[in-house]
Amino acid sequence: MVKKGKIEIDRELCKGCYLCIRACPVKVLSKEDAANSAGTYPVIASNMEKCIACGNCYAVCPDVCIAVYEEAV
Ligand code: SF4
Ligand code: SF4
Repeated sequence: MVKKGKIEIDRELCKGCYLCIRACPVKVLSKEDAANSAGTYPVIASNMEKCIACGNCYAVCPDVCIAVYEEAV
């Protein structure tokens, strides 16, 4: 059974490398339109409902900006 997930992104910590966007198999993530206080355009979960809690985004983030939660279905 496919898992359902939820993520939280620390947009102030995000440095905009976008490794997580490429690592997500179901295209949950995209670049935010607004910059953070460092002038970086952080990642946003624009398709959160598609998240399957695979953990790829957490695994590739060099700065541990993303937390992944598995939701009960
Ligand atoms: S991998 Fe981490 S630092 Fe890089 S864009 Fe994604 S959240 Fe930001
Ligand atoms: S946990 Fe997996 S499916 Fe969910 S946003 Fe991260 S990479 Fe995408």
